Amino acid sequence: MAERLVQHKHCPVCKKAMSTEKETCSEECALRHQKQVRERKRTMYFFYFSMVVLVIVLAFQFLGI
Ligand SMILES: [Zn+2]
Repeated sequence: MAERLVQHKHCPVCKKAMSTEKETCSEECALRHQKQVRERKRTMYFFYFSMVVLVIVLAFQFLGI
């Protein structure tokens, strides 16, 4: 029971338990985490870009141009 009361969270990269003040458990995980975030952002931008292109294409088709 006592173990459950200890404040901790899990490393988003390797899921190891660690202190709540830290973002990741180690330097290595911090680097990997940064890379993951960057890749996720790129995927999101690509998704939004595709949506915009799709909307433009559909708009042109709708207008019959
Ligand atoms: Zn880690």
